[in-house]
Amino acid sequence: MPERNEFDIVILGAGSGGYACALRAAQLGLSVALVERDKLGGTCLHVGCVPTKALLHAAEVADAARESERFGVRATLDGIDMPGVNAYKDGVVSKLFKGLTGLVKGRGITVVEGTGRLTGPLTVEVDGTSYVGKNVVLASGSYARSLPGLEIDGTRVLTSEQALRLESVPSSVIVLGGGVIGCEFASVWRSFGAEVTIVEALPHLLPAEDEQSSKALERAFRKRKIGFATGTRFESVKATDAGVTLTVEGGQTYEADLLLVAVGRGPVTDGLGYAEQGIALDRGFVTTDERCRTSVEGVYAVGDIVPGLQLAHRGFQQGIFVAEEIAGLEPEPIDETGIPRVTYCDPEVASVGLTEAQAREQHGEGVESLTYDLGGNGKSQILATQGFVKLVRVTDGPVVGVHLVGARVGELVGEAQLIYNWDAYPEDVAPLVHAHPTQNEALGEALLALAGKPLHAHT
Ligand SMILES: Cc1cc2nc3c(=O)[nH]c(=O)nc-3n(C[C@H](O)[C@H](O)[C@H](O)COP(=O)(O)OP(=O)(O)OC[C@H]3O[C@@H](n4cnc5c(N)ncnc54)[C@H](O)[C@@H]3O)c2cc1C
Repeated sequence: MPERNEFDIVILGAGSGGYACALRAAQLGLSVALVERDKLGGTCLHVGCVPTKALLHAAEVADAARESERFGVRATLDGIDMPGVNAYKDGVVSKLFKGLTGLVKGRGITVVEGTGRLTGPLTVEVDGTSYVGKNVVLASGSYARSLPGLEIDGTRVLTSEQALRLESVPSSVIVLGGGVIGCEFASVWRSFGAEVTIVEALPHLLPAEDEQSSKALERAFRKRKIGFATGTRFESVKATDAGVTLTVEGGQTYEADLLLVAVGRGPVTDGLGYAEQGIALDRGFVTTDERCRTSVEGVYAVGDIVPGLQLAHRGFQQGIFVAEEIAGLEPEPIDETGIPRVTYCDPEVASVGLTEAQAREQHGEGVESLTYDLGGNGKSQILATQGFVKLVRVTDGPVVGVHLVGARVGELVGEAQLIYNWDAYPEDVAPLVHAHPTQNEALGEALLALAGKPLHAHT
């Protein structure tokens, strides 16, 4: 007879969604089993957000050294020591992993190591032991997808996870997919000295962003000599000992040392017993209502397996939401449009709320937009970055979209998301003071201009 363990919540997967749910549930006095087959922290901590942002920081340091003369500083960039970069990156990850492990232990959460499978609506089985929950939370995350006819060999044709483990800088790379992950890797490799070409099927890089942001990024990438072909569909790839040849529809070919496949992430839901237990799926994703409830009573789903933005902070928030829901706190549902989005390439692209096109679709002609160029922002000039802050508002109504392009603008999205999520009117927030000289001032200037009293802006 398999052993039986009973908990208030059994969580399958300890990535951003799963562990956040566990931490909050434990804080609320619920007993929690957290099942994980790999490492606490999941994709984000080990092969996603954290290591890629460490690489991007190393890339920024390389650029600073290369361009130091511009600032009157004599330095030279002698090269990129990938083992050194990896040691720095892995050091950041292990420190955070240690911290998270301690946190989970400290909250009294039962961590079950092994591969879990849903064997009853409220039962997860791991190595012959059943863990029964009053509630179950599915949080099994995502994997790097490929395309039909595109075989990942881990040597020449890589996923992002494999690309994070490179021990030298390739001299040339093709990046298939100009979304967030593709643009971030392209930016890193270019800063490290590689020739980079992005191939994207849709008409623009970062196609989910406001078109003005995508176009600004394309201009900046052109300046950085990052090549890209948009509106270009993959046809085939041939890997040899010397490199890869990518053929696109129409017959054009591209050659490079490596190909990174960054065409999106699929849900990890196959073979885990979800369908067998009656959990409704849509193309492999677990569908939920706005309270993260699946089609089966007592079973919730959070994170990348739920259709929508595949972002760590969405997973965190959904995890917290579910813990509070189960504890009877009746939390407010999450507004998906209010989740901030950041691409950490150089320049950064960040946004929250609706694009201008979406705002016009939803609100008709009663929409205004204002773009404040970072050329007028002192701190951005000091940093020698270009870009803009764009606000989209409903006429005589709240700000419904904020779009940012420029070095470090990802940090501005904190204020932007408060403006969006609190339905702020430009007239309400324009009088609030921004420190000088900061890039935040650009947001303040844009709000002043939209409120009809521009300061450092031509009208
Ligand atoms: C290269 C890259 C860069 C990214 N950068 C960012 C970023 O800058 N900002 C951002 O917000 N997001 C970023 N993301 C996305 C972010 O990592 C994900 O949105 C987030 O990790 C999703 O969390 P999750 O809990 O849904 O899934 P995951 O983090 O994938 O966790 C799922 C966990 O479940 C475990 N698991 C799966 N099946 C089983 C099973 N049967 N039994 C036991 N355990 C199981 C897995 O081992 C895994 O640990 C990035 C992703 C990638 C790939």
